Parts: sequence; structure tokens; C-alpha cells
Amino acid sequence: MRPFQLANIILVLSLIALDIAYLLGYTDWWWLLVVIGIYIHVLVFGSIYIQWNFYVKSYNNGSNSDKRIAITFDDGPAAQTERILDILKEHSVPAAFFSIGKNAVAHPQLVKRWHAEGHLIGNHSYNHSFNFDWQSSKSMTAEIEQTNVAIQSISGVKPLCFRPPYGVTNPNLAKAISNTGMQSIGWNIRSFDTKAKDPEVLLQRLLGKLKGGDIVLLHDSMPITAEILTEFIIQARKKGFTFARVDSLLGIDAYA
Ligand SMILES: [Zn+2]
Repeated sequence: MRPFQLANIILVLSLIALDIAYLLGYTDWWWLLVVIGIYIHVLVFGSIYIQWNFYVKSYNNGSNSDKRIAITFDDGPAAQTERILDILKEHSVPAAFFSIGKNAVAHPQLVKRWHAEGHLIGNHSYNHSFNFDWQSSKSMTAEIEQTNVAIQSISGVKPLCFRPPYGVTNPNLAKAISNTGMQSIGWNIRSFDTKAKDPEVLLQRLLGKLKGGDIVLLHDSMPITAEILTEFIIQARKKGFTFARVDSLLGIDAYA
């Protein structure tokens, strides 16, 4: 049972208990607002925090029995993809790229390079539009499939790993993920590189949190990410960490 289903059961039981208490004169009507208010907050936090596995079971980290970590880049192919690929190649680091379908179509040579250089290609929706999470499950399913078709026609591989845009999940996305047979991949280290201003602060934020099994969320659209990447790799290795591709870290299949 997902926590979402448990929350629904608790809501129904609470409403029944409140009803009985109200009829017997033990409580006031405004308790109803309190219960519904708490329920709505739980639903919203369950949507935002992918690590709660509230609507969808996601892979958010690997085992911390050794010091393997996985770095993942979202939103490409984008402005920094080439620079990031050069750095990964120079240091022999495997990574995962969760691609926006329309960006893959616009930059097929970078998709080919991802695959040729041994990185995992994942699906990150076709449009990654702001209203993605308000779409029907049918339309989300179509976006996921369209992205898989685009990636497969360019690289020859059909992704099985999906990262929800913005890390937001809901019941419609849960259906779309199940319809398409994808595996949801979250993270447990969020770099906030899309908001970061100071490269040193970003670097220390990442290095300070690292432990074995971590999945690190980065973006190949951000210059600051490319700027700190070499130092991040060097420093993480100095601390004894090794880089694994996320599918190998998790022991799951990358492609159908
Ligand atoms: Zn994204």
C-alpha cells in the first residue's frame, strides 16, 4: 500500500469518528476543517517530496554498504551538456542523463554521444512544461512514450528509467508510470544548482553531504554545474567515493 492510500483510509476513519463525536455532542464542527486541512497538507508534501514514495515508488538511493555514488543530470541536451561530457570523459566518470524529449530531438548528436560514451539515457517527459503535473494520465503517458520513441530512434535504446519533472508526483503520474512500465528514479542529494550563485558554496554543499549509495541531482543546463564538476569529481574521489551509473548502483535495468 502506498502512503497515499493509507492517508485516504485515515481520512475516512477520522471523518467517521468526527461524525459520531459530533452527533453525540462531544466535538465542534470546525474539527472537520482541521482534519481536511491536515489531509490537504499531507497530499501536497507527498507530491513535492519524491523521497516519501507517497504516490509512486521511486528509487531514491542505493545501498550505503560501500562508497559508490551516482551523479545524474536533468533537462538536457542543453547548453552545458557538451562541456559536462568532456569533463566526464576526461575523468572516466559514468553518469545518467534524464532527457527532455523535445531537447533530444533538437540535439540528436548529443544523445548519440551520451550513449556512445557509456552514460545512461533516461526519460524526463517530452515538454517538461510548467503544467506537466496538471495533465491527465493519458497525456502524461503520451509524453513519456513520445520521449522514449525519440530517444530510441536516435540512440537505438529504449529507456526504462523516468525522472518526474520537478520531482513532483501525483496519482495521474503514478498511472502514467505504470502504463508505460517505467521505473521512477528520484534522488537523495539535491544540489539546488539551478538556484546556486556561488560555485564554492555549491561544491561544499555537495561534498559535505556525500555518503555511499547517494544519487545526486544536477542539471546539464547550468554553467555553475559544469564549473564545479571537475573539482567535485576530484574531491569526492579523495574522500574514497567511486562513481557508478545509477542503474548499476540500484541493480536495475536501464533499457527495455
Ligand atoms: Zn527537470
